[in-house]
Formats: sequence, structure tokens, C-alpha cells
Amino acid sequence: MNRKTVFGPIHSRRLGRSLGINLLPFKTCSLDCVYCECGATTDLTLQRQEFVPLDQVRKELDAFFDSGVPFDYVTFSGLGEPTLYSRIGGIIRHVKNRCPDTKICLLTNATLLDIMGDELDGLDLIVPSLDGSCEEEFRTVNRPAPGLTLEKLVRDIAEFRKMHPRIVMWLEIFLVPGVNDSDDSVNRFRELIGQIAPDKVQLNSLDRKGAVDWIRVPPAGRMQEIQAVFAEICPTEIIHA
Ligand code: SF4
Repeated sequence: MNRKTVFGPIHSRRLGRSLGINLLPFKTCSLDCVYCECGATTDLTLQRQEFVPLDQVRKELDAFFDSGVPFDYVTFSGLGEPTLYSRIGGIIRHVKNRCPDTKICLLTNATLLDIMGDELDGLDLIVPSLDGSCEEEFRTVNRPAPGLTLEKLVRDIAEFRKMHPRIVMWLEIFLVPGVNDSDDSVNRFRELIGQIAPDKVQLNSLDRKGAVDWIRVPPAGRMQEIQAVFAEICPTEIIHA
């Protein structure tokens, strides 16, 4: 496969100059989120694979590091769920060997955290998504691969948090008006945030076109109301309103 996996650095509103790594063919994911900016998932799977040869990724990274272009983060993101790439641990180790001071971030839907072993130990920042406050909302917003449940997702994120105290965790919640933004939902989310105890919560909402056309942006002021509730137990910021 000859397509490039390393792109950027691009300006990220959260991470500054972010060198992206996309390890997946369009559009491979364990979820099919209604808000996904990449569009609908065409390969809904939990099967991990080496979609791109590890050597190719290492060579692309080396070429970038040799160029001397400044950047703030190496970020796993792109056209699907990065942990579906079966050799992600090898990439993390390579980056840390080549540039020990480089910060590495993983944007993840967290559905495979329980089977990652020590592969993610070299991360500096993990940003898992949690978009359902109950199973029904999880199914409506995230449209998961068969077998995935919110209960498992929350358990796995909380376990990861406990087992990796060095890795900073920002928990991202995408608000879909009419689905997961009611007062009941907010109270349930508050409970789940308490269980996970991330360093920070980030509230997100529709910015670009999603995978379906019925999502709207939250009504004026609603995100701020929700932010105030979550901020009682955890620093919370709005990354798009
Ligand atoms: S987890 Fe991410 S890549 Fe996968 S469908 Fe959801 S938003 Fe898109």
C-alpha cells in the first residue's frame, strides 16, 4: 500500500501543531457515530489488522523527523479508530526511541482499550469518547459494532485510567440535542464522569457535516449549562459551541 499515513503538522484547536497519523483505510471503525465528520462507517469491525506495513509508517515518520519541521504532538487520528491498527504499540515505541521528548496523543473511541495490553503505555495524552449516558443513547449516537455496550466502555475507560495514572486523560463528550442533552442525561453523565475521574472533560458539538443530516447544534446556552454541572466534579471546557 503506497498511500501516506503521516500528515501535517496541522493546526489543532486542542493540541497546537499536530502531526497526524492515519493508519486505516476509509472508513474502518468499531463505531458508526452519527456525528462523524468522515462520513458513514463502511467497515464496522472489531478486527485488528496491520492495515499499513509498520515499516512504511516508521519510514514516513523518520523522513518527517529528519526534516526538522517543528510540531507539538504526534496524534493518532484519521479515518477510523486507531487502535484497530494491530501494531500501534510499535509506532509509539518508534516515536519515543527516535524523539524521546515528543508528546504522543491518541484520539480514541475506547472500544478496544481492554485488549491493548501494554501497547499504549508510551502515550502522553489519551482522549476517549463517551457520548451515551445510557445504553440507548450509546446505540443511537455511536451505532456500535455488535457486542459493544456502554457498560463495557465505561468500565474499560475507568480501568485504563486507574492503570495508567501517568497518562493525561481528557474525556470527550459529543452533545447531540434531543438525544443526550436532557437533564436526566446530564445527571447520568455526571455519575459516569465521577467513576472515570478524567483530568478534564471536553464538550463537543456539531462543527462540520456529520454522517446523518438530522443532527443540530445545541440551543444557545445549553452547553454552558451542562459545562457548569460537570465542572462541579471535574474541570470542563467547551471545545465547540
Ligand atoms: S469513533 Fe470516530 S472515526 Fe469512528 S465513527 Fe465515531 S467519530 Fe467516526
